[in-house]
Amino acid sequence: MITRLLFCLLFVTLSAQAGDFRVGAAQVDITPKDGTPLGGFYKFRGSAGVLDPLYAKTIVVEKEGVHAVIVVLDLSGTVRPVVAAARKAIQEQCGIEGDHVMISGTHTHSGPQQPRGSLMDDLTKVNSAPGVAYISALPGLIAESVKQAKSRLVPVTASAAIGKAEGISFNRRVLREGVKEAIWQPKSLTAFDKPAGPVDPDVGVLVFHSAGKPVASFLNFAMHPTSVGGGVKISADYPGVFTRLVSERHGPDMISVFANGCCGNINHTDYITGKRRSTQELGTALAASADAAWPSLQPVTTFKPRIRSELVTLTRKKFSEAQIAKAKDMAANMFTKNFGTVPMAEAVCILETVDKQNVPLVGEVQVIAFSDELAIVALPGEIFVELGLAIKKASPFKHTLIAELANGSVGYVPNREAYPQGNYEIVSARGEAGSGEKLVEVALKLLGQVKSPD
Ligand SMILES: [Zn+2]
Repeated sequence: MITRLLFCLLFVTLSAQAGDFRVGAAQVDITPKDGTPLGGFYKFRGSAGVLDPLYAKTIVVEKEGVHAVIVVLDLSGTVRPVVAAARKAIQEQCGIEGDHVMISGTHTHSGPQQPRGSLMDDLTKVNSAPGVAYISALPGLIAESVKQAKSRLVPVTASAAIGKAEGISFNRRVLREGVKEAIWQPKSLTAFDKPAGPVDPDVGVLVFHSAGKPVASFLNFAMHPTSVGGGVKISADYPGVFTRLVSERHGPDMISVFANGCCGNINHTDYITGKRRSTQELGTALAASADAAWPSLQPVTTFKPRIRSELVTLTRKKFSEAQIAKAKDMAANMFTKNFGTVPMAEAVCILETVDKQNVPLVGEVQVIAFSDELAIVALPGEIFVELGLAIKKASPFKHTLIAELANGSVGYVPNREAYPQGNYEIVSARGEAGSGEKLVEVALKLLGQVKSPD
């Protein structure tokens, strides 16, 4: 009898371990020391003080020994060398294959810069001692966050809902009657001006419950985190407020992870009224959208994680000799003179393209699915909202959540129609028109593969 009971217990324990869908989450502080070069602008700004901390937040998903890892950093983005080093460390320390790991950045503009191998590195002094110290430590901190998350794996159920945040985000490119070029972040508008494109009001909410308690949430919305402004204090911007409020309200022990969607052309300034919500207001409004969606969370099926990724080679833009000469001229004076954001962005892009003319422009597209109803797409850059909407529309999944600035970045990725309209994002884009559509095509192909493998 006792033997039989033991056998039953053993059997139950083993089968529970073998078949369970498990999730663990953790966060590790990645706030830099004072004096660390900040990103987001075309000049050096050393950090001084902290408004709120930065984290590497991780959700590890596992079933039958197969893991998928989702890491989001409170940083302006991700660069390939850091991603590669972090994946290697994760593989060594956690035994999880590097290509099962997604690492994205929230795009906060109040965090440290990462080296890009361009003039930006000199402008931001990212290769100064404090910059190098920060970047060298980062892969280890990311791996630590994954290690902690993996050690907390518990059986969970997953549920998802899509909330709406209307009137929070705005397309920052505006078309004016009779003007060919789109106006970028206009100071004022006429009644005849119209946004050059849409916004994506969807707030993706994916929650994992263990024994009735939420242990992790993955939140998704598309909007530039530029609400803190150009100061020198460190901040996670609105995603920091958003995730903190969601955890406070729905489960104090829950780790809430925010991934930014396709927000290449999306900001928080209402260009009609000129209104700019504060960081606190933006985070609070998004948390209210998540609150409203919470009661409609629907359980989703779960299975062994399926991960696909593909390296996509994009074609670099081409420049005339005159454009290159002008950019070189400007570069020589850019450290002492402010030529304005758009001309400086253009010069940086031209010089990087010249420097790297024999280096392929490669971005990784990655898709993670562990449910028939939901998939996560990771894209390598600042992707225009039109491209994200195209993926969501054509995706075979009911819910498709997108993380931009993931697994490295190819810079801005506008949709094809936006190229002739010019201005900031277009002159900053490394890839020629059609690059974004190529990423969409690969994302949809991979979504098809994880939806129906074999
Ligand atoms: Zn940006």
